[in-house]
Amino acid sequence: MIPKFPFDRINWTSSVFLIATFLTAVIGTPLYIAHFGIDWFLIGLFFFYFFATGMSITLGYHRLFAHKAFKASRPVKILTLLFGASAFEDSALDWASDHRQHHKHVDDEHDDPYSISKGFFWAHMGWIFFKLYPRPLANVGDLKKDPLVMWQHRHHRTIAMLFGLGGPTLLGYLYGGGPAALGAFLIAGVTRVVCVQHCTFLINSLCHTMGNRPYDSSTSARDSWFMAIFTFGEGYHNYHHSFQHDYRNGVKPWQWDPTKWAIWTLSKLGLVSELRRVPEEKILLAELREMKRLAEAQLESGRSWTVSCPTREEAYQALLEMSQQLGEGYHELEKSIAAQIKVSRAALMRWREICAQTGEHLMHWRSLEPSAV
Ligand SMILES: [Zn+2]
Ligand SMILES: [Zn+2]
Repeated sequence: MIPKFPFDRINWTSSVFLIATFLTAVIGTPLYIAHFGIDWFLIGLFFFYFFATGMSITLGYHRLFAHKAFKASRPVKILTLLFGASAFEDSALDWASDHRQHHKHVDDEHDDPYSISKGFFWAHMGWIFFKLYPRPLANVGDLKKDPLVMWQHRHHRTIAMLFGLGGPTLLGYLYGGGPAALGAFLIAGVTRVVCVQHCTFLINSLCHTMGNRPYDSSTSARDSWFMAIFTFGEGYHNYHHSFQHDYRNGVKPWQWDPTKWAIWTLSKLGLVSELRRVPEEKILLAELREMKRLAEAQLESGRSWTVSCPTREEAYQALLEMSQQLGEGYHELEKSIAAQIKVSRAALMRWREICAQTGEHLMHWRSLEPSAV
């Protein structure tokens, strides 16, 4: 029997909006450009709204409101609430509630609203086509006490229409009359909304599919520098799921995370404060634990095929030795953290090196696996 399609659960407003904006962006915008052309004003306006609304989601909705990774002054809150609403991704309150639910029940088919276990398309945008159960707004009690958040929650659709679509249209009109107003509406309004939304959606779909898991392989969340480019730095999603209250997602200094740099810059200007950072030793402990687990699993599965092959035997012994060193480093570090003893920089460097060397040995070991040679 074919299961009945749940028409009664369709969220018609969101569905019509998603489809209409997408069609307008892929049909209306090229037709406009073919007819009227495009100039630097329209390109600049697109990028201004793209960065302002995209960063308001990552810096505001995500790291500030959903995770409380830092404290923000009123101007920062107001701007991220106005531009965040202009991304048409619901109110900050609803967004944070869904997102906290996602972290709490990640990968759970029933309780994670955009669980990757229900498929790539569901995690990307499929879930938005359906009404969510009454949202568990009990998990955002702290945000309900914030009058600015509640004001935006009541008026986010009006703000989105006026600020997110009306704003660029008006600027276009002031710049060049009717045709420029239409271009600004299509390019900096509708097309920009579609682009920002899909960048956000990628965090729930591709960031749970593509990349590696250096901190915790028990969830589907992954780190990917490639995804970080399209998501204002949110691509380091394995780190984020391991340490969700850290204001950084790309925790290494070289990792591409414009949202982290924006928060840091705002803190230097006195506009945000109390940036939360996970101590370096705790991060390293997670990396050591994950590498140790990988090495042990590999040793366990490959023990039998070392027989009668000196190269494999040698690689096996080297990996075994690294795995033992990792274990020692892990326990030493764990003890120091528990006793709140400051770990020296030299010790951290040494364990980081062992972690990296084990990674190299693992790759070598895998290249010798019977299926690989
Ligand atoms: Zn996630
Ligand atoms: Zn998060």
